[in-house]
Amino acid sequence: MRINNIKIAIVKSTSSANANRSNLILPCLAIVMPCYNEEAILPHTFTHITKFLLMCIQEAVIHPSSYVLCVDDGSSDSTWEIIASNSKTSPLIRGLKLSRNQGHQTALIAGLSNILDCDVSVSIDADLQDDLLAISAMLSAWRNGYDIVYGVRNERKTDTFFKRKTAEIFYRSMLFMGANLTVNHADFRLMDRRAVNALLNYKERNLFLRGLVPLIGFPSTSVHYARQQRIAGKSKYPLSRMLCLAVQGITSLSVIPLRIIAFVGLLISSFALLAIVYAIISKVTGHTMPGWTSITISIFFMGGVQMLSLGVIGEYIGKIYLETKQRPLYHVESLTWKKN
Ligand code: UDP
Ligand code: MG
Repeated sequence: MRINNIKIAIVKSTSSANANRSNLILPCLAIVMPCYNEEAILPHTFTHITKFLLMCIQEAVIHPSSYVLCVDDGSSDSTWEIIASNSKTSPLIRGLKLSRNQGHQTALIAGLSNILDCDVSVSIDADLQDDLLAISAMLSAWRNGYDIVYGVRNERKTDTFFKRKTAEIFYRSMLFMGANLTVNHADFRLMDRRAVNALLNYKERNLFLRGLVPLIGFPSTSVHYARQQRIAGKSKYPLSRMLCLAVQGITSLSVIPLRIIAFVGLLISSFALLAIVYAIISKVTGHTMPGWTSITISIFFMGGVQMLSLGVIGEYIGKIYLETKQRPLYHVESLTWKKN
């Protein structure tokens, strides 16, 4: 199998890899693919992904029972109809329809919860911007004993300047906040059954999987690949959604923003103390002046800091509120196969 130009690099694995699995029987692979309004790209995706699976089966890399599970995340176009009709003609395609749009991260969890008949899972976006051939390299790494293999982009040339820069700021701030993230890894990753079971034990609603998966701690490694441009349909991550994901990532992994607020509060209080001493001295020495500008500036500044701080605290309280409700993450409306 061609796995040229795919480089396997070992990254901070918390423990060494498990025993070599090359003697094991062929693994059943489930590719989990969240789909939201992807009617424009799905025909292309199915052609390529089934070709890839057939090649892996023929070359005895994966078990013939392997498949791709398409999770329709409450699409409003004909995504589900396309998935359902393809699943009738190909045993390699399964479909699961969520009752409404729950977001990419929840769609992934819904998919991972429904592939427990398989040994290995790979999550991939429906537009196939990620390289299918990198899955072969991921499987090799799994055979060498790694439970989790991250797909990492080797460059960001296909992104706009804006997306490149915002991604850089995002990763820098996440690392600063103490999150254990793999830079330039999104949600293209291999997880074996043990890792998926461990991930499903995290019962939180505020999902940010690329921050959560490293917390599992099983042996992990990376595979580098070149990401292509989307060839049809639109990105489902405009700036507003990217910002939401960034806030989700930070608030679900770190309490450092709350500490920053406390630190800024302390700093401003120290300045206030100095200002009080200065005001008293000015009063005593009779140098008081009508200081309209300084008062106005300090009122606006303090107002801004307080509102921002309240907003950050509110964000965390909102998360606690949603977590305490323990609402179901999603509801499955239809499946194209019979579950055992
Ligand atoms: N997606 C989803 N639910 C959503 C938004 C996106 O399941 O609410 C899926 C989408 O169909 C795709 C993946 O998440 O398979 C990533 O989306 P996209 O390719 O638009 O993101 P980008 O590559 O632009 O960051
Ligand atoms: Mg994409």
